[in-house]
Amino acid sequence: MSRHWSECVRRLTPYVPGEQPRRAGLVKLNTNESPYPPSPAVRAAILAEMGEDGAALRLYPDPQAGALREAIAAREGVAPEEVFVGNGSDEVLAFAFQGLLAQAQPLRFPDVTYSFYPSWCRLYGIRFEAVPLAGDFSLRVDDYAGAGPVILPNPNAPTGRAIGRAEVARLLEAHADSAVVVDEAYVEFGAESAAPLIASHDNLLVVRTLSKSHALAGLRVGYALGQAPLIEALVRVKDSFNSYPLDRLALAGAVAALRDEAWFAKSRDAVIATRERLSRELAALGFEVLPSQANFLFARHPAREGAVLAHALREGGIVVRHFALPRIEQWLRITVGTDAQCDALLAAARAILEDRR
Ligand SMILES: *Cc1c(COP(=O)(O)O)cnc(C)c1O
Repeated sequence: MSRHWSECVRRLTPYVPGEQPRRAGLVKLNTNESPYPPSPAVRAAILAEMGEDGAALRLYPDPQAGALREAIAAREGVAPEEVFVGNGSDEVLAFAFQGLLAQAQPLRFPDVTYSFYPSWCRLYGIRFEAVPLAGDFSLRVDDYAGAGPVILPNPNAPTGRAIGRAEVARLLEAHADSAVVVDEAYVEFGAESAAPLIASHDNLLVVRTLSKSHALAGLRVGYALGQAPLIEALVRVKDSFNSYPLDRLALAGAVAALRDEAWFAKSRDAVIATRERLSRELAALGFEVLPSQANFLFARHPAREGAVLAHALREGGIVVRHFALPRIEQWLRITVGTDAQCDALLAAARAILEDRR
């Protein structure tokens, strides 16, 4: 605290990202990164963009990110004017909070959800209401009845549970006068995207990221899909903040990743297959595991406190995510790794439960 802090900075509660450990050799299952490398085309495109002498880096990147927006538009079956890109979907979401979700009525989102949402509310002075999920952490669309904007991740984080497109459509129709943002960070791992509803719903913004599904968390590329007037709101915020949120290397790498659909599908299928196996094997160890349509599992063990288990796993070289938050303090969020990483997790968990550690 300093007397130089602004009023706004005094009231912030910053989001705390999952640890990026500096110690080598840990099995890192805490931030939902892909366990597989991105398409080799990404590296080639970035090197090509650099050129022999890096001279391209003298020049600012395309402020409209035209080539990337066209690649996304082609993949998603929308027009380039219906695509916004940003420095990770966190930036895209932040712009949506400021440009669309800051309204007279409070913003609503699930009580158990992406813990960045309340941080952005405080940053932008947005009033919010947390709507409780059901006892099994499922989301009941009818609980959002009433006016005002809504944001929800689908699949939800950190639970991994998803709702179907028909449910999202019901929510959009019940909120026809308010913006509804669907954060689809994990949608490629088996849930239904709301994107096909964009043509018929002028209040829908779908937010996606290349961080998880395309193994590019380090490149920082996210995007939004929606009708042109909603996209224009994000562009207005961006152009009042930073003309070039995506650098030349990120633009080149992202286009290459999106063009290699076969690589993407192979990694995604491997993650899904490992998720199903890990879920069964954790259940066999006595864990309660929520059904997941994401690249992580949400699980708890009746015989061990969540914080104790997370700590013991860490001692065994396995890093998972534990949130000391109401309703979920007994739960662990475990990223689906390679088969070998998941085997290491299972072995460590077995040792802890048998008290060999
Ligand atoms: C990971 C995540 C994001 C942010 O991803 P970026 O890396 O910033 O693109 C957004 N929403 C949810 C729910 C996430 O889990």
